[in-house]
Amino acid sequence: MSDPLRDTINKYRYFIAGCFLLLSLYLIYIVVARGDSLSQSSGNPRLWIVESRVLRGGIYDRQGEALAVSTGSGDQNNRSYPFGPLYAHIIGYDSRRLGKTGLEKAYDAELLGLKGSLVERLSVRWGLKGVRGNDLYLTIDNRLQQRAWDLLSPYTGAAVVLNPQTGEILALVSTPSFDPNEQSLESQWDKTSTDPGRPLLDRAAQGLYPPGSTMKIVTAAIGLAKDPGLPNETYDCTGEITIQGRVLHCWGVHGVVDLNSALAVSCDTYFAHLGLNIGTEDFTKGLESFGWGDPLSLDLPVSQVPLYQKSLQDPNGLAESAIGQGRILATPLYMALVDGAIANGGVMMQPYLVQQIRDPGSGVIWTAKPRVLRRVTSPQVADQVKQAMVGVVNSGTGTVANIPGLEVAGKTGSAENPGGAPHSWFVAFAPANNPQVAVCVMVEHGGEGSQVAGPIARQLIQLALNQGG
Ligand SMILES: [Zn+2]
Repeated sequence: MSDPLRDTINKYRYFIAGCFLLLSLYLIYIVVARGDSLSQSSGNPRLWIVESRVLRGGIYDRQGEALAVSTGSGDQNNRSYPFGPLYAHIIGYDSRRLGKTGLEKAYDAELLGLKGSLVERLSVRWGLKGVRGNDLYLTIDNRLQQRAWDLLSPYTGAAVVLNPQTGEILALVSTPSFDPNEQSLESQWDKTSTDPGRPLLDRAAQGLYPPGSTMKIVTAAIGLAKDPGLPNETYDCTGEITIQGRVLHCWGVHGVVDLNSALAVSCDTYFAHLGLNIGTEDFTKGLESFGWGDPLSLDLPVSQVPLYQKSLQDPNGLAESAIGQGRILATPLYMALVDGAIANGGVMMQPYLVQQIRDPGSGVIWTAKPRVLRRVTSPQVADQVKQAMVGVVNSGTGTVANIPGLEVAGKTGSAENPGGAPHSWFVAFAPANNPQVAVCVMVEHGGEGSQVAGPIARQLIQLALNQGG
């Protein structure tokens, strides 16, 4: 006997049970599958609630020097940067009004303890207990960072120091800079953000400049890869070279030069001529193997070094690119990587800034592993370019980087630009037979590379290698 009323009640029963089941499945999906990405999204206002409950992890240099510390609790939670502007472009800032930048943004979840064990993450998210976030230990050496800042702060420019064998960034400075401490940052914001000196811009990783004569180490490598007999060929520098009716002037009259002597004296016509001999197709391929046109990843915003293929089709554009002028551009970070790749037998390592993440309770929870980014040239070619760069410092335009008792390889650069005096560049690495440190210094409108950037590079190498710097 069917009872119509009972049937209707049963239908509703099943319907409501079905609704509960769907809702439960949805909640499980939200918490388990999407929980981490939702809770770590910077658009989630609950992050600020978490932040007021959690003591944000600290940021330290490779020797354990505190670079960012949090004190207090609850709404009194206070983030401070003891070195002020030194790390503004690396660590960034953490402001309720202006948001987060740099490593504070890239490692927000780790610093808030949202990436620990499941139990820890859930207790942080639901506020079950007061928790300390995880600490970051950087590859940065605070002594080097401080010295680079001291040397560079009178100028507008950038300096990058790295270990060419691992890719660890030991120092990365961009000047001018700003004070990232919250109170000063917020009160000065209107002035800082409209300053024509652009202190917010990280010139090291984002500034694109013509690399000038530092580019000649790349042209030399591409030329040697194409023609192993190149070191035995000579060229007569008369002070100028005419390309399709246009005259390209050398900065001197160097007479008969070969690859090594042309790099030592930084002869423009030799390298313009070499670029033309390499030709559009092989020069373009060579630039690609060095990474031009490829995106670069880092925990900070980075400019990709652009590859303007069209300008290389034209002989004048090709010759200009071969000497680092015209439409060839690079960041100081990228020229440090190029320099480091020559130092490291032709292998460019992936640069990185964070060495370890440590849980204040249980210790190290993550350690970075050095990783090959690309092979830019063969070990033989890298070694030939290295020997030529040793000549630059021993008896060429780079003698300012000479350090008694230490073999240094280097290259100067003075990049012409429409804004005024040339940009001053210097790339170097040492010791030449087993490079531990690679440096790139660029000073905007600093004039000759040997005069301004060279001495800064020398002092950074001396300090990095504890050679009385
Ligand atoms: Zn010349």
